[in-house]
Amino acid sequence: MKKAADQDDKVISKTTWQDAEDIRWAVRNWAARIGVKPARVQIRPMKTKWASITTTGGMTFDTDLLKLPKELGEFVIVHELVHLLVPNHGRVFKSFMQAYIPEWELLETQLQTYANKELNGKVPRHTNSNSKKKLKQQL
Ligand SMILES: [Zn+2]
Repeated sequence: MKKAADQDDKVISKTTWQDAEDIRWAVRNWAARIGVKPARVQIRPMKTKWASITTTGGMTFDTDLLKLPKELGEFVIVHELVHLLVPNHGRVFKSFMQAYIPEWELLETQLQTYANKELNGKVPRHTNSNSKKKLKQQL
């Protein structure tokens, strides 16, 4: 167990976000790189999600991301932005994630670990047009 944690430390830095504007900047930066244009970007407290996206491309990110290492926030940002290209989590979605963040699967696991440890089990999920119905039932 200890060994795995040491390995993770190599990938995850302790650098965190300065403020909400720092996150906005990263969203704009990644959006340009991926070639998408979010309609609107909001950062506000969310109870059970890290981020959400509307059918019109409006994005909301959770203020709790400010407490996490930057890489994990970037993973959440890229995840949401890729949804502007691919609405589901299928094969095409995964290949986009792989292209932009090669270690995305490790970051996804790390995000879950941080959620359990520091944020009382917040689950790294979000809504999009396809999963809204299902998610409502879970909540
Ligand atoms: Zn998603």
